Amino acid sequence: MKNLRDRLELTIGDITKIPVDAIVNAANRSLLGGGGVDGAIHRAGGPAILEECKKIRAARGGCDTGDAVVTTAGLLPAKWVIHTVGPYWKGGQNSEAALLASCYRKSLKLAAGLGCENISFPNISTGVYGYPKEAAASIALDAIAGYVAQETLPSKIILVCFDQENHSILQLLINQ
Ligand code: ADP
Repeated sequence: MKNLRDRLELTIGDITKIPVDAIVNAANRSLLGGGGVDGAIHRAGGPAILEECKKIRAARGGCDTGDAVVTTAGLLPAKWVIHTVGPYWKGGQNSEAALLASCYRKSLKLAAGLGCENISFPNISTGVYGYPKEAAASIALDAIAGYVAQETLPSKIILVCFDQENHSILQLLINQ
């Protein structure tokens, strides 16, 4: 995982407080805001983000699971918010792993297209959507490793954990 470790940073905290070019939001398909990190991002970023989300929703009917869309970042210490929709955990036989990997890949691709040097991710799907944390962590790292092996931007990828459990799981996997 060397190439990955050079570009990956793991931290604990509130993703809305960390300055980056692009913050990834674990959104829902409506793009109309929700709880968890989605609520925190809209609260801290102000109404401009929701206004843009509503326009995207009007134009293309929201965002599919596994896909990602971009808005500006309002009052957040970032240029962009990339809203991606993680899969709801339904037992593992409903393409959850492929959809979760797709969230990471598509968000990274969007960020690269915007020229972002750095990007922060929450632990997508591990909150209300109930994805088992070990499995989600391993999918996140594999998806990011696959991406960084091929692309140079973003040069820094920050995984922002909100809880110690996700942080410990990811730290263990990264150091393997
Ligand atoms: P999902 O519906 O994709 O599960 P959640 O927002 O419920 O989305 O949770 C995703 C992850 O984001 C969880 O690990 C949760 O603890 C974390 N989280 C919640 N608030 C924040 C925040 N302010 N900064 C970073 N991570 C957060």
